[in-house]
Amino acid sequence: MHILVTNDDGIRAPGIAALYRALRAIPNAEITIVAPEQNQSAVGHRKTLRDPLRIGPVTLPDGTMGHACSGSPADAVAVALMGYIKTPVDIVVSGINQGPNMGQDVTYSGTVTAAMEASIFGLPAVAISLDSHSEPAFSHAAAFAAHFVPRVLEHELPELTLLNVNVPMGPPEGVVITRQGRRRYHDELIEREDPNGRPYYWIGGEKPTGDIEEVGTDVWAVANGKISITPIELDMTHHGMMKALEDWELPLA
Ligand code: MN
Repeated sequence: MHILVTNDDGIRAPGIAALYRALRAIPNAEITIVAPEQNQSAVGHRKTLRDPLRIGPVTLPDGTMGHACSGSPADAVAVALMGYIKTPVDIVVSGINQGPNMGQDVTYSGTVTAAMEASIFGLPAVAISLDSHSEPAFSHAAAFAAHFVPRVLEHELPELTLLNVNVPMGPPEGVVITRQGRRRYHDELIEREDPNGRPYYWIGGEKPTGDIEEVGTDVWAVANGKISITPIELDMTHHGMMKALEDWELPLA
């Protein structure tokens, strides 16, 4: 079993080391780490086509060998799978992210889009995120990953589908299968002035919340101390709206 481990917090982030250590305990697991050189959180599903990509071996803080890529998380996965890594990969695991990826977060998340890239390459993929930005205690998430990844390989995932796992901060009180919930963002535009008197902007504000009372969602599960597993497919068609859209009677050829 050859597992490609990646993340979006950067190859030196503690979450990827925790994930690597946990997966190494799986019998017969061979693990390769390929991840962004820098923190690439919230870069979305970025594909680098107009700049060169640099990638090469690095030694992580705990002595583990990995490969650092100059591009986005999805770039790291693509470069690895297109031939940089010579041994065929069986599954891609992305994480453990420092911070949750729920609801609309998945469209921003480098952790999830790295898994999306793997599913585009036809591989099963898992994204794992921890519901904590400040106190990274990865042990529960790591232990779950070591249990879950072999189970994913026992089964087949549908085409263009990945599994998005969010783990609560404390000891988990069970595992639930969920749908995407609704995030509530509290972004604020902060305007400042540069030394030349020109304005520049930051996106600031409080951390997002969510509709935690919406039972059955990722947001609800994590708020209730449960590990959330959401199957996510890349086909984002709103099937229910197709008929309504046809009724707009647009001048279609
Ligand atoms: Mn991140």
